[in-house]
Amino acid sequence: MQRRTSMLSVARMVARNDRVMPFYQPKVSLKDGKLSGFEALLRWRHDTVGVQGPDTIAAAFDDLAAAISLGERMLERVCADLARWRDNGLVLTRVALNLSPAEFRRDDLFDRIMGQLGRYDLPAELLELEVTETVFLGRGADSVGGTLAAFHRAGVTVALDDFGTGYASLKHLREFPVDVIKIDRSFIADLLKDSGDAAIVNAVLGLANQLQIAVVAEGVETPEQAAYLLARNCGHAQGYLFGRPMPADAAEALLTQTVKGGGSH
Ligand code: C2E
Ligand code: CA
Ligand code: CA
Repeated sequence: MQRRTSMLSVARMVARNDRVMPFYQPKVSLKDGKLSGFEALLRWRHDTVGVQGPDTIAAAFDDLAAAISLGERMLERVCADLARWRDNGLVLTRVALNLSPAEFRRDDLFDRIMGQLGRYDLPAELLELEVTETVFLGRGADSVGGTLAAFHRAGVTVALDDFGTGYASLKHLREFPVDVIKIDRSFIADLLKDSGDAAIVNAVLGLANQLQIAVVAEGVETPEQAAYLLARNCGHAQGYLFGRPMPADAAEALLTQTVKGGGSH
């Protein structure tokens, strides 16, 4: 409880003092290795110890007020980065933002996000929202479907994060507008050693394929994992093999390279 309380007060300080600094991790198309998007991951600046990860304030994602202010800062920063990259003449790629279930408990989520995109004159198609299955449970879950459907209609895509780890109900894939499934990295880690994990990955790929949902494999660290996934028609991957989460400048450099190399979009 003490740790939780201290995480919350750190998170409040982080939001109040505007220390949020999104890092960007590339997602690639497995067929040609080209950049297919970024996931924005929360980092924050500590005066003396440097850049800190989300684990240092994890409890804040479950707290309504803290989750909302961190979410607002992330959205604002990501939009500002995208607008700057665009103004620098780069071809943009889709950026995925993580949303915690708490953020759905306020009914202005849709307006807040669309408003921010509008402020920077960014098309909705540039944004993807990553949610875990827990958003479909608990308080406020009733309105989640409607909110996600509104995003989907507006052009914002929806990805189901950490797929297979939560209270997965396959019904969610049909009831909600899911554009992308992200296979959790716990299934990818031992993919080549554990036949149980391989069976799950294969089943998810088959299911997604039948339902025409795109797939991103998370936590791909070795060429062998990438080759295995490619051979089974997994469309996209993300992981240390292709790039670690990096600051905005480094992500911008990747976009520049994409343009110089002839462009992937
Ligand atoms: P996540 O959404 O599942 O994000 C993926 C995590 O896996 C990231 O950790 C990333 O750095 C890590 N990762 C990526 N590739 C590899 C790999 O090849 N090997 C290994 N071992 N790890 C890899 P990170 O950045 O520490 O984020 C942890 C979690 O914190 C995220 O898990 C997400 O649940 C949460 N989070 C991060 N940023 C935000 C945010 O802005 N909002 C919310 N609500 N949650 C966030
Ligand atoms: Ca995620
Ligand atoms: Ca994940």
